[in-house]
Amino acid sequence: MSLIVTGTLGIDSIETPTGSAQRVPGGSAAYFSAAASAQGPVRLVGAVGEDWPEEHRSVLSSFREIDLAGLEQRGGSQTFAWGGRYHDNMNVRDTLFTELGVLEEAPPSVPESFRDSRYVFLANSHPGVQNSFLDQLPDRALTVLDSMDLWIEIANADLHALIARVDGVMLNDSEVQQLTGIGNPYSAGRRILEMGPAFVIVKKGEHGAILVHEDGVATMPAFPVALEGVVDPTGAGDSFAGGFMAYLNRVDRCDLEALKSALAWGTVTASRTIEAFGLEGLRGLDMPALEERLDVFRSATHFE
Ligand code: AMP
Repeated sequence: MSLIVTGTLGIDSIETPTGSAQRVPGGSAAYFSAAASAQGPVRLVGAVGEDWPEEHRSVLSSFREIDLAGLEQRGGSQTFAWGGRYHDNMNVRDTLFTELGVLEEAPPSVPESFRDSRYVFLANSHPGVQNSFLDQLPDRALTVLDSMDLWIEIANADLHALIARVDGVMLNDSEVQQLTGIGNPYSAGRRILEMGPAFVIVKKGEHGAILVHEDGVATMPAFPVALEGVVDPTGAGDSFAGGFMAYLNRVDRCDLEALKSALAWGTVTASRTIEAFGLEGLRGLDMPALEERLDVFRSATHFE
């Protein structure tokens, strides 16, 4: 079994109603791999520029199960950078800036030692980069795609072509609506299944997530966290994906029942991310800590 991700490695600047963090390590692939590494090894492929701070490498290296052999640092290039500001309820955020940098250059290449990867996650990035990644991974057992508003807007045709190539799509509720023009997430999910994938996961922030699968549907609430406990929601979606994919890779299954369990693993993983700024909430996360939250989650969702 082998789990691999490509996506952004970014320099994030975040403002919340109660605090801020400037130029901290972030990016979709960073959150995904830090989250997945709580369950086992994960291979990371991504590019950064010469401005990438050395401390950011140390932070990623401190998550020992992340294999950084696919991380390319490019002289003369700029690292992806993103800024976001959250509203009072922490559910809504505005993007303050997105500097694409290396994302506008040639995609990073997959090292030879990673080419046998089977569980593949396309974290948020340019659809062109995501497409080229798939071309380099012939042994894929499961491929899941994440995307977002920017790419639906500026690379719509590329994104549609990519959706036809993957097994699963993960988007939040507003993105699903933007992609399909349909407001109801079950109907929108079914429309996406018509484009090719076997399942769609619609993330709904503090309201959990739903799974629309060709064999049935499932709903999963969010882990109960009071607003006072939410420090920074950045990366919750990517961390959810990390917990979800790491579970499937570990059990080496992708049937509907396995996907339902994976939703729970993704949910408890993301609940850690939002408790601190940047990647800090994921620090020290391991199987016993995940199992402890799963017990709380099971008892909160179980009924006679
Ligand atoms: P999330 O909160 O799960 O949507 O993920 C936030 C992370 O995604 C931040 O660390 C950003 O650096 C990164 N990000 C923001 N915009 C984009 C984009 N257009 N493509 C890829 N990654 C992005």
